Amino acid sequence: MASSLDTLLSQGIEELRLALDEAALRTWQTRWFGKTGEISQSLKRIAQIPAAERPEYGQKANAVKEHLQAAHDAALLVLQDNTLENDLAKGGIDITLPGRRSSPGRLHPSTQTLRKILGIFGELGFEPFTSHEVEEDEVNFGLLNMPAHHPARDMWDTFHTTRPGWILRTHTSPGQIHAMRRAAPGPLRVVLPGMCYRYEQITSRSEIMFHQVEGLAVGEKVHLTDLKGTLLAFIQRLFGDKRKIRLRSSYFPFTEPSMEVDMDCILCLGKGCGLCKKTGWLEILGAGMVHPTVLKNGGYDPETHSGFAFGLGVERIVMLLSGMDDIRHFWANDWRFLKQF
Ligand SMILES: [Zn+2]
Repeated sequence: MASSLDTLLSQGIEELRLALDEAALRTWQTRWFGKTGEISQSLKRIAQIPAAERPEYGQKANAVKEHLQAAHDAALLVLQDNTLENDLAKGGIDITLPGRRSSPGRLHPSTQTLRKILGIFGELGFEPFTSHEVEEDEVNFGLLNMPAHHPARDMWDTFHTTRPGWILRTHTSPGQIHAMRRAAPGPLRVVLPGMCYRYEQITSRSEIMFHQVEGLAVGEKVHLTDLKGTLLAFIQRLFGDKRKIRLRSSYFPFTEPSMEVDMDCILCLGKGCGLCKKTGWLEILGAGMVHPTVLKNGGYDPETHSGFAFGLGVERIVMLLSGMDDIRHFWANDWRFLKQF
């Protein structure tokens, strides 16, 4: 009986040698190791064997089984290796090509522009000053010369928190108070970047959150001409040294006098086009000389000190620089938009 197992083993090996691809190997596996395959048949035959010979037969049958399984596994490995070699030989894979580039991510367009703006003001001697996004109502409005019931405090413009007297800052200007109180009575030259929040309808032109950069300089001899020179230098560094600016009279509660700052249109160079609404000018930022009340609230004596301040919207600058026409792209997190920057 044991000799029939030897025959079985050599037969199995011989058939394995003829299995030349993976499909043939699977067929072989079923034929030899399936439920009714040769191996289980030979194990069942143990019942017909005289009891004395059974242990020897059983051992040998298991050895044959292990031997065949090992031979199969080895054959499979060789086949798989050959398949890879064939693929390479056929040129299916060009291993000399560079791998797929992984995407490490990049800075958001607002962050890129914010850093560029801070870089320019850094060269002009303005130090960054980070303030809070959740701010006291009194600092966001009151100390900036907007007492209670001032129209600019309209509750519909403001996100209130559950803590009375605390809001999401509606502009970066409350940071002026913190910066002045830290520096007074010494000279001060800072830029205050950050996210601001307004309770507004979201349209292509307005968002409920946006970045502002505020600038503030306070000293014993700070004049309107210093403001104009600083802003001209900034705009020419950002938009090109041919740019011109003009100041238009305006109103903000925390500056006196106040002004809007325009730049000649970067598209039509002042001739008038759709971007500048035929005026030849683009509104870039708001500015003014710090209101005496605000200086006093910041810890300076308005009799001896003066200052200028300005504020601009970072997303507006990105839109001008890139020709974007819808502010809603910024927070939509659409990769197709983001990867263009
Ligand atoms: Zn234009």
